[in-house]
Amino acid sequence: MNKNINLPEKLENKIKCTNPRCITSVEKYITHTFYLLDKEKREYKCRYCDEIVRVMED
Ligand SMILES: [Zn+2]
Repeated sequence: MNKNINLPEKLENKIKCTNPRCITSVEKYITHTFYLLDKEKREYKCRYCDEIVRVMED
């Protein structure tokens, strides 16, 4: 239906931080929160460590 790139400003528990030292990798019950950084590249930034994670389309 929606073919345009439509990414939310914030993702919670949708993706995981790739930084092994990030608090979300250590603390299992913390919410994985990411903020949209670059819509064109589909990049999100970790709230806790500023790691950048790229989201792939399904
Ligand atoms: Zn992180």
